[in-house]
Amino acid sequence: KLTTQFPHIAFLPSPGMGHLIPLAELAKRLVCHHCFSATFLTFTNFSSPTQSSFLSSLHPSISSISLPFIPLDDIPTSARIEIILAAIVSRSVPHVRDALASLKQTTRLVAFVPDLFGTELLPVAKELSIPHFMFFTSNCMALLFFLHLPSLHMATTCEYRDLPEPFLLPGCLPLPGKDFLDTVMDRKSDACAWIVHVMKGYNSAQGILVNSFEKMEPGASKALKNEKEKHPPVYMVGPFSRSGLDEVDKFHCLDWLDQQPKNSVLFISFGSGGTLSIKQTTELAFGLEASGQRFLWVVRCPSDKDKSAAFFNMQISDNPLNYLPDGFVKRNADLGMVVPSWAPQVKVLAHMATGGFLSHCGWNSTLESVSQGVPMITWPLYAEQRMNALMLVDGVGIALRPVAREDGLVERGEVATVVKELIDGERGKVVLRKVKELQEAAISALSPQGSSHLDLTKAADQWMNSDPWR
Ligand code: UDP
Repeated sequence: KLTTQFPHIAFLPSPGMGHLIPLAELAKRLVCHHCFSATFLTFTNFSSPTQSSFLSSLHPSISSISLPFIPLDDIPTSARIEIILAAIVSRSVPHVRDALASLKQTTRLVAFVPDLFGTELLPVAKELSIPHFMFFTSNCMALLFFLHLPSLHMATTCEYRDLPEPFLLPGCLPLPGKDFLDTVMDRKSDACAWIVHVMKGYNSAQGILVNSFEKMEPGASKALKNEKEKHPPVYMVGPFSRSGLDEVDKFHCLDWLDQQPKNSVLFISFGSGGTLSIKQTTELAFGLEASGQRFLWVVRCPSDKDKSAAFFNMQISDNPLNYLPDGFVKRNADLGMVVPSWAPQVKVLAHMATGGFLSHCGWNSTLESVSQGVPMITWPLYAEQRMNALMLVDGVGIALRPVAREDGLVERGEVATVVKELIDGERGKVVLRKVKELQEAAISALSPQGSSHLDLTKAADQWMNSDPWR
């Protein structure tokens, strides 16, 4: 091993581009600003051509290794994604051990950093005396939820939606049980047992890096720093989000946006998997039409069963536009554009004509909106999105919330009201001002004296100090 080699970090992303992208941004930052090199270990079961070409396009100091394929013949194909993930992570333990041991032989390996669901792999690094940190791809409030839920789980037995009082996480808004992470909503499920097991594992990390920044969550980030004797040290190192440079504009959305006035268009998209019911698709369509505002809508085939149906049906052959009300596209040709399934989101958000983002509040989408200074309308669907929506509306104040009926449906009149208010109303001006302030704060957090840069430097120093080849 050459002392001239850069110190090396092994990353392990959870499946999905939404996890890989922020982790890759973190790796790039460590390579370019802190003189590290890196290897990505990836789960072959979830590899895709998009992922492979993304990994091979990274900085030359970042390489990748695919872990061996994990046979899953004993798991029913209908099993929830969490159960499949649980099996892949635990069956990969020996392979991760081999990969880390071999990296230790060939590089100056100073840290192992899995993300979100990878806590079960931390003991392997411990065994090999490799410093082991987690990267939390969501925000500080969600991390506090991960750190505190196991105690609530022990202390209560009812379903969380029936809790008489909201959950009080330090430094956060009171969190009603109905807004908890999706996976814990059925306490008897194996998926819930697994995620609580993952949450408990956070305490065996030597540090936790979070993809958020102090100004976005002042209360939660202070609480994480203050209660440090209760859990590993936490570093707020974000926001890490995509540049969008690689995005392809298959449907010419950007040409259409070029023709629209400044700040006039509402962009509507529900992440990589979000899906509405048939009825909700209809209400949203009529509501947009009634608002009289311009819109660019990424339309998915509806599903009445699963709010994340598109995750598993990306190859769907049906044309989503067929599910829109009769004549909708024609009637709205002057003001609206609809595209099937996917748009170059970062480029759309960065466009001068975009004035708002109706979003499912996935954390990557949220950070992309903040980085481009675009105010939001919250439309949470799954995962931790209801918690994110709460923080965006009632915490940092960069979004408006449509009021849903008891059964969850947002009616067309409500859609029209909230859309008009965001693009053209007084409350829209307030959230716009706040998101512009936050956009500045995000830039400054990553600048040389910024809070996120300093926090990452602290973590990097710790890894460097453990480098025996220094
Ligand atoms: N995305 C995109 N075009 C689309 C929909 C989504 O580029 O039409 C990207 C978006 O920019 C973001 C990611 O997919 O980077 C979605 O991540 P997020 O965490 O918001 O939601 P998830 O897909 O994990 O639910």
